Amino acid sequence: MEEKDISQKSLALMRKFVAKYIEKSGTALHPVDDVSEGVILGLAHNHQTLGKPLCPCRYYPDKEEEVQHRTWICACDDMQIYKYCHCLLFVTEDGLPITEYLPDDHEGREIYGLVRDPSPDKGRPLRHKAAEREEERRNRPS
Ligand code: SF4
Repeated sequence: MEEKDISQKSLALMRKFVAKYIEKSGTALHPVDDVSEGVILGLAHNHQTLGKPLCPCRYYPDKEEEVQHRTWICACDDMQIYKYCHCLLFVTEDGLPITEYLPDDHEGREIYGLVRDPSPDKGRPLRHKAAEREEERRNRPS
């Protein structure tokens, strides 16, 4: 997907959202520009075609149906509960996803090990929903 195929309105909206969310969550953009740019383009494309910024880094059998669940609308549940961004959009200054709050058996822990949160006073507004999220992760792998 190229930038020319995406509406400037969706792209501007996503850029604004990402800049604000970085500030709000105490995270950073990935140090390699192409990484964050690719995710932002994917979010903008989904915003344009689905009406919502569905996470562009996952496979969905049915995107329209997935939007109804809201789990993977950016900022997704994993970000708002665990501060974990598997797309590497919201990361530490070193470009690592924060894994400190993930359950031990979560794929993020298995891939990246323990990555501490550099700004524990920010983010995780839905931290109280961890039990609910884990139930969903077991019953509706998504
Ligand atoms: S993993 Fe979550 S926070 Fe990261 S880009 Fe996807 S939806 Fe957004």
